[in-house]
Amino acid sequence: MKREDPPVILDSKHLGLLLESLKKSGYLTVGPTVRDGAIVIDEIDKVTQLPVGLTDTQEGGTYRLQSRKDAAFFAYNVGPHSWKKFLFPPEQRLWTLKKNGTKFQFVDIADNTTRYAFIGVRACELQAMSIQDRVFQNGHFQDSHYMNVRKNIFVVAVNCTQAGGTCFCTSMGTGPEADTGYDLALTEVITGSLHYFVVRSQSRNGAKVLEALPHKPATAAQLKTANEMIAQAEHEMGRSLKTHNLKTLLYENYEHPHWEAVASRCLTCANCTMVCPTCFCSTVEDVTDLTGENAERWRKWDSCFSQEFSYVHGGSVRVSAKSRYRQWLTHKLGTWVEQFGTSGCVGCGRCITWCPVGIDITEEVRRVTNGK
Ligand code: SF4
Ligand code: SF4
Repeated sequence: MKREDPPVILDSKHLGLLLESLKKSGYLTVGPTVRDGAIVIDEIDKVTQLPVGLTDTQEGGTYRLQSRKDAAFFAYNVGPHSWKKFLFPPEQRLWTLKKNGTKFQFVDIADNTTRYAFIGVRACELQAMSIQDRVFQNGHFQDSHYMNVRKNIFVVAVNCTQAGGTCFCTSMGTGPEADTGYDLALTEVITGSLHYFVVRSQSRNGAKVLEALPHKPATAAQLKTANEMIAQAEHEMGRSLKTHNLKTLLYENYEHPHWEAVASRCLTCANCTMVCPTCFCSTVEDVTDLTGENAERWRKWDSCFSQEFSYVHGGSVRVSAKSRYRQWLTHKLGTWVEQFGTSGCVGCGRCITWCPVGIDITEEVRRVTNGK
């Protein structure tokens, strides 16, 4: 049973104390910050590095930052990065070998022992992390690199009080309110001259960190305001997706002509899989230095959109863009359910926003299933 302490109020001027407290406890604090015109996730030391007073507008193939009239810290929707960059990094050394005489021997196993505090995790992203847990640690095969990082993270979730143009977490049952999988969950409220967070703790660690911060019990009126803001986000989702019977409908429409229509636009650039918080495909590369004395094995993100990804003896299984897009979408929404007992999509909308030609998973599903 999950622990749930009574919600409290943290004044916005004390948000910096939360970061300081986590850093003092040995965590590397990572959270949203602005870089290259987008809100990305990176190391942050102080609250001024958060996207203060900024929001974003998102549509198919479009992402723009905009100023707000207030000094909100978390009034944006998810950007191109997801937390998988820390749990399942884009490039990771798996092991190193050194020549000893005529043989090679292991010199180290490159484990990451960093304790991360994730600041600003959205509800859909908590679900994405739990989906990757099924892939990397809860199944028959376990990934020690993932598990080493995962077991030490401290999660500060943030409930969404506005939805983005490409969001559809409500359809997927994954948001906009954080339900489980966090240590602390914040709802940011700005009303008149008041700016505060309604904070819930869901773990012993979360309660301990919160206890050391200046806070007071939340009133019924403050909780009502926070809940209304979350409900508003729920009603303003930019996209929707019918999930009833979806797996079967996709299988039945395996040869639907719309797959070809999407393929005529798809650049097979793999952006959608890079930004997706649940995609987990990878490849490995072995490298040696010029002396031939040292060798390393690296794991790198790969994508079902690359032709090489499905290469088996004699050639690739999926040579056409049609077969690769169809593989990606039917895996996400169909075969993933058979493999891991859950959809592979959390409705974050990233693949729609960051597709250079605006291919939209919700629209393509509608067409392929004839709107059923
Ligand atoms: S669907 Fe869009 S993002 Fe994905 S591979 Fe095709 S063009 Fe790239
Ligand atoms: S498939 Fe698209 S909307 Fe679904 S989780 Fe991945 S990036 Fe987000």
